[in-house]
Amino acid sequence: MSRQLSVRSFFNKPSNCDGVDKRGEKRGIDAVEDEGQASKTKTDNVQPAAEGQASGKELKREYRVQWEQEFKWLRREDGKMFCDICRKAKMSNGFVRGCTPMQKSALNDHKSSHSHIKASRVVNQSVAMVKHVEKSQVACNEALKIQLKVVLHMANTNTPSHLYPNLIQLLQSAGCPDLNSAHTYTHHETVNQMEEAIAMTISSTIDDRIANSKYVGVIVDETTNITVEEMLITYLTLQHKGEPETVFIGNYVIPSGTAECITTKIKDVLSGRGVAVARVVGLGSDGANVMVGRKAGVAQKMRLNDCPYLVNIHCGAHRTALAARDASKAVR
Ligand SMILES: [Zn+2]
Repeated sequence: MSRQLSVRSFFNKPSNCDGVDKRGEKRGIDAVEDEGQASKTKTDNVQPAAEGQASGKELKREYRVQWEQEFKWLRREDGKMFCDICRKAKMSNGFVRGCTPMQKSALNDHKSSHSHIKASRVVNQSVAMVKHVEKSQVACNEALKIQLKVVLHMANTNTPSHLYPNLIQLLQSAGCPDLNSAHTYTHHETVNQMEEAIAMTISSTIDDRIANSKYVGVIVDETTNITVEEMLITYLTLQHKGEPETVFIGNYVIPSGTAECITTKIKDVLSGRGVAVARVVGLGSDGANVMVGRKAGVAQKMRLNDCPYLVNIHCGAHRTALAARDASKAVR
């Protein structure tokens, strides 16, 4: 009995690890074995303890790095032992709060504890779920790439959007690998949304260049769409790394072709792209009175109100077309 008491007194009572209190004696022996301070038998373990007590020395329980090889989830922080798995699973146990006694038996007990086993299951399931989602996401992305290519091709070839489902069906019947039903849009209304997404992506690539150009020029021309709505096709000329560059901005519906409407639309478009109207120093257009009229043309309206240094240029291509028309009249 006296020997047993001396063993109990030798080991500090663990207080904050899973189930350590109940089996403190056993763990103490494990710890001594870990530290190579004791021989193989329990009886032999007792002897150095008694000697330690007798000499007033404390036997150090030190953390051993090699434990991390056996217990992959083990982490040491601020002199305490933690369990990565239980932390990830947000469990509540001694290895989440931090286990102080550096005993291998505490690690073994934690490994076989209900809490740790449950945490392992939770983490494994979440890892499997993440892998499944990632795999699904890759397949989804590949399917979307193909569908966006179809929509871009339709836009480039003026293909009506109601033919989109037919094109998708054609690709599916041809064995296109990623076009399975789970990730494939088949309704023709999707085409509009995809076109908008493509346009936004293309448009966003020139935003930086527009922002970095100190001055800009505007090139506009009136046109109509297939339903004969009046539209204003718009380009900007920029300075990019010392070189001039022309970028397409958009084709916008305008309520009418008056100078007032066109001027308002140009300002709206510039504002929408973050361009202050005062930065505009050039306006390229056809020679119509509504654009270049000296008193109330678009150029004059912009010059008077916002852009004092604006220079308007009658487009060379339009001039050439006029010259060709006049020449053909002369030939007749
Ligand atoms: Zn754990």
